Amino acid sequence: MTRLRLQQLTKRYPSVTALANISLTAEPGEFLAVVGPSGSGKSTLLRLIAGLEKPSSGEIFYNEEPISHLPPQARDIGMVFQTYALYPHMTVFENLAFPLRLRRWRREAIQDQVRQVARLLELQGLLERYPRELSGGQRQRVALGRALVRSPKLFLLDEPLSNIDAQLRATMRAELAALQQNLGITTLYVTHDQAEALSLGHRVAVLSSGHLLQVAPPSELYNRPVSVTVARFIGTPPMNLFAVTANSGALQLVGTESRLPSPLQLAEGSPWLLGARAEALALRPAEGWHPLGSAQVRTVEYAGHEMLVTLRHPAAVVPPVVRLSAGTPPPQPGASIPVFLNPDSWCLFASESGERIFPP
Ligand code: ADP
Repeated sequence: MTRLRLQQLTKRYPSVTALANISLTAEPGEFLAVVGPSGSGKSTLLRLIAGLEKPSSGEIFYNEEPISHLPPQARDIGMVFQTYALYPHMTVFENLAFPLRLRRWRREAIQDQVRQVARLLELQGLLERYPRELSGGQRQRVALGRALVRSPKLFLLDEPLSNIDAQLRATMRAELAALQQNLGITTLYVTHDQAEALSLGHRVAVLSSGHLLQVAPPSELYNRPVSVTVARFIGTPPMNLFAVTANSGALQLVGTESRLPSPLQLAEGSPWLLGARAEALALRPAEGWHPLGSAQVRTVEYAGHEMLVTLRHPAAVVPPVVRLSAGTPPPQPGASIPVFLNPDSWCLFASESGERIFPP
């Protein structure tokens, strides 16, 4: 198995630094998701690892062997792109066999290997078909099969599920996760979809404007984002933010009489941002929860297993959203209601830099 290590990788184009000093390790067998908005440098990262472009500075290692000098074909990478170009004039069997033919495998070995991969991806019945005779999901499975047929050292996947309809995508996600687990091939999975990154990645790396903001397991990214930027990028809905000021050992919600005990010693009068996930807020009192004053109900969105209630609150930086379980009676839009905060589930960020200072 391969450990992929990027050391201070930088890529400058004449007009922009696409990647700035990226240090990142994918452990052997790890599924590492890389997420960021469009233009954050995800494709550049993949092109550098694949050897399709040269870094301006920095180095890439496989198990501590530098590989930056190697051409793409010597890097032993299986790649699957968003537009998974299958060869249209070849059957599924021939598409899967192609990478092995290139490497001059023997006929019988090719037969065996293709049949094994076809079994793994449930493509046995489709081997004689042409790509035009397959559904989107089946084509995607063939593209994955072609990437893994020769057991590469590394998988690079670039939004491989984005052209598949929503229902099939959920199934394919689960299949992909199981497949990667079985094969144990170190995988870098690039996506702009944070929900996909959270659901698939053993760890998730967040990129923004060429900078690596945080690398962490999904639950840590969700509960302890390093900054307001990550808190607002990760999660559906994003983390709620309230303006507070330090006031005699308490945090005072701006524009209200509400205060909660401060977990840290803070300069008197200094401004901070309190962050809370939608499920860390409630509209009814509970044992030990902090009252955050009253809010006005703007909208109620029913989503089957839950309800999302959007509020207006004087201290809120953006309209806060509260997640309620489906059984709860829905509040009336326009109504004024009290809001409460789970004392064990909130963050404090510096208001200027946006960096998290609590939990430490
Ligand atoms: P993403 O994949 O996250 O959308 P990219 O890696 O494609 O981001 O792009 C990162 C930044 O680098 C963008 O500002 C983009 O315009 C720039 N960029 C990408 N490729 C080139 C190139 N070949 N020449 C100049 N600028 C580029």
